[in-house]
Amino acid sequence: MASALETPMMKQFLAIKARYPDAIVFYRMGDFYEMFLDDAELAAPLLDITLTTRDKGKADAVPMCGVPVHSADGYIKQLAELGHRVAICEQVEDPKSLGGRRLVKRDVVEVVTPGLVGDPDGLDGRQEVSLIAIDLASDGRPAALAALDASTGDFRATHVDVELEGRGEAALPEVLLEELERIAPREVLVVAERLESLSPQLAERLPDCALTAVDEADFEPDDVPAVPEGFAALGDHAGRRPAAALLRYLGRNQPAALAHVPRIRRYELLDTVVLDAATRSHLELFENSVDRGRPGTLVALLDRTKSALGARRLARWIGYPLRAPAEIRARQQAVAWLGAHDRVRSHVREAIAGVRDLERILAKAVRPGAVPRDLGVLRSSLEALPDVAAGLEVMEGELFEAGENGPVDRPDGIVPPTPLPELARLLGEALVDDPPVIARGSRGAGESGYIREGFRPELDAIQESARKGREWIAGLEATERERTGIANLKVRYHPVHGYSLEVSKAQLDKVPADYERKQTLASVERFTTDALREVEGTVMGAAERAAALEREIFEALREDVVAAAAPIREAADRVAVLDALASLADVARREGWVAPQVDEGERIAVRGGRHPVVENVLRGRGGDGFVPNDTRLDRADTRILLLTGPNMSGKSTYLRQVALITLLAQIGSFVPAESAQIGVVDRIFTRVGASDRLSRGESTFMVEMRETAEILRLASRRSLIILDEIGRGTSTFDGLSIAWAVAEYLHDTPGLEARTLFATHYHELTELAHERRHIANAHFEVREWQDEVVFLRRLVEGGASRSYGIQVAKLAGLPAAVVSRAREILAQLESGDRHAAAPALGAAEPERSGAQLSFALAPEDEDREARAVEREVLDELSRLDPNRITPLDALAALQRLRERLGGGG
Ligand code: ADP
Repeated sequence: MASALETPMMKQFLAIKARYPDAIVFYRMGDFYEMFLDDAELAAPLLDITLTTRDKGKADAVPMCGVPVHSADGYIKQLAELGHRVAICEQVEDPKSLGGRRLVKRDVVEVVTPGLVGDPDGLDGRQEVSLIAIDLASDGRPAALAALDASTGDFRATHVDVELEGRGEAALPEVLLEELERIAPREVLVVAERLESLSPQLAERLPDCALTAVDEADFEPDDVPAVPEGFAALGDHAGRRPAAALLRYLGRNQPAALAHVPRIRRYELLDTVVLDAATRSHLELFENSVDRGRPGTLVALLDRTKSALGARRLARWIGYPLRAPAEIRARQQAVAWLGAHDRVRSHVREAIAGVRDLERILAKAVRPGAVPRDLGVLRSSLEALPDVAAGLEVMEGELFEAGENGPVDRPDGIVPPTPLPELARLLGEALVDDPPVIARGSRGAGESGYIREGFRPELDAIQESARKGREWIAGLEATERERTGIANLKVRYHPVHGYSLEVSKAQLDKVPADYERKQTLASVERFTTDALREVEGTVMGAAERAAALEREIFEALREDVVAAAAPIREAADRVAVLDALASLADVARREGWVAPQVDEGERIAVRGGRHPVVENVLRGRGGDGFVPNDTRLDRADTRILLLTGPNMSGKSTYLRQVALITLLAQIGSFVPAESAQIGVVDRIFTRVGASDRLSRGESTFMVEMRETAEILRLASRRSLIILDEIGRGTSTFDGLSIAWAVAEYLHDTPGLEARTLFATHYHELTELAHERRHIANAHFEVREWQDEVVFLRRLVEGGASRSYGIQVAKLAGLPAAVVSRAREILAQLESGDRHAAAPALGAAEPERSGAQLSFALAPEDEDREARAVEREVLDELSRLDPNRITPLDALAALQRLRERLGGGG
């Protein structure tokens, strides 16, 4: 018995598999993709599909599993997201033409990898899918990276001008790692020799990213499979080498997609504000801190875009705030103009909604697997472009009449997309209104009818002759019945045997001489005639010829689209910008934001500032609403603002508010304030006291200190630093000392002197303001009222007088006994009589007590317990209202209180 691996098919499979050893091979068999051997054993549990065997019973039966072609895309994406590669192996010739004489030829048409998803269907339109290659510094060449989103064609490169930082040869520079985190790629290509040494570091910083080894030779910039515009100009110092590696990788895995990367853009990290991972997460720019979801984030608030193009562009802007005031102002003017003209904005946004995801549609259209539906969607998007342009042009003339104020002249930042009328018309004439989806890989298998009548006379002629033939056949039953007198004669169609005239056995004697017997069944016989055979041939041949011709036309259209990729992308780019601008304008308008004054100065001055997201949440809840506050930070004057005051008074919110207003200003957005002046920052650092967040298994204090170290190392005089409860992760005196020293360092170090907001509950720090010229104190006003605290949320000068921690603890529902005991301890501590407090506390180190004091009640201390009970009883007594209590209830209460005091019944 031959081995199961010896069949021609398995031999073919093994030959293909040998070429793609690191991929799961999807082997096309009819309507299924099959996986065999190790691939099947790996994929079946991941995809939750049944694992079976081929040639059951044989000793080396082959494990296999399969997925239907029509739902394969979902499975392929699932595997790629899990970090696997999938090689899609198609039948590359029509099995019908072979008639089963030999095995059909198969070949891998594309490889889907974690960073190259192939078919963009089903992706979240708001998110990019990035593949990155990194080139390490060597021979005086800086480290560089290139990033590609093959689903949109976005291709860019940058370099990192830093020395390798004394962490040994293996380490990647921090700036590069930060940029990698910001892009959050799905896959990173690294030269094979360095993969092992770099992977721990990359795995830590990019835990969800696949690492792929490539050859050193792949980085050679010569003889790349495609040369995008701008590639040569990059030079070796600006990312040309990693770009070359990406192009080769794309060419090897998805060659058709090379047509979709016509351009590469160089960008400079120094042109934009650095936002590291900690800052992005503390400010909740893209993910909230609750479940890492979108609700409650800045992007969720700002994103009112109408297209995926605009949504991705806006997210990019938020991720890369600008540094150059001139660029910021240009964007701001565009936002202002669109904000001032409500009718223009609403027209334009409505038109943009018709554009759809032009970049990803284009990505689909240039793929060999493109289907008529894809070109149909492209067509409707192209048809919407003139509306977008017209929305801007036509309305301009009406501005005066509409009585809308604001500048009439359109700022330079608003550029209407250039429509592609010829291509739109061509697709309109060529394709039917609603072109169909044709299953993957089945083009040419006889599908037709998607090319519009009248587009190609030759096709119409074929269709016409087929139609005539079908009509003739449709009328055949009646004419033959009449001619032969066989009343129950029928015309039958069978997919294999074709057309026939069916006569029941009882009527056989009436069959005329020109009928030829075709098939005999139990009760009927089937016949054909010369005429029928001829017409049948015409009909069948016509269908095949029509399908072939339609496919030919479709391919030609696809090539026209590929040829127009550059202008289509250009139009998509403009729509993206317009959509993102209009979204910012819409938010500014709806939220009542103002245009900040952005300059090179060193002042951040905000009047009536609000936290954009918190304000929104509070508004939704009704209630008192958000209390606006001012900010004034100036390097020459107050450089460090020290915020003291109780928990819950609003410190964190304020810190984030100032950072967000600065960030919004540098995005080019309006800001939630009455007015604002922002001297641009180069970086926003935020560090939040350890207990506010969880980390990956590391001591939270350790994370906090590491992040603080990074700030002190990397901050410049143009940076904005937000420190929230730094030092909280350790004992009071340690924490206070660290916070103190950090504040001093920030103030005193020449060249650092960054603008800083420092929130702390350590009152002692307020002393610093007296010692250091550029440090000022502020706190949030708190009112005490009948021993309760009321937070006014108003920022006032000077340090907080008290911390109100106990009142806040009471608000939070700490038992009354604990609260009252805490008051006593506090009174003793404040009177400086620590030793009087200590015995009751059982603290071993009276000098180092402070907030480390334990609130645990010593059970043997009866005195204290008794006092606590008395307080509770008094509390309850004071809550009783004699005017509203029945005599019976009063009696019961009296009884209860006496029992509590140990008075018994
Ligand atoms: P802290 O950092 O001082 O502990 P938070 O900033 O966390 O205080 O604020 C506590 C609560 O007060 C938050 O739930 C927030 O919604 C609310 N809050 C903060 N600032 C304001 C404000 N300016 N106006 C209204 N509510 C505010």
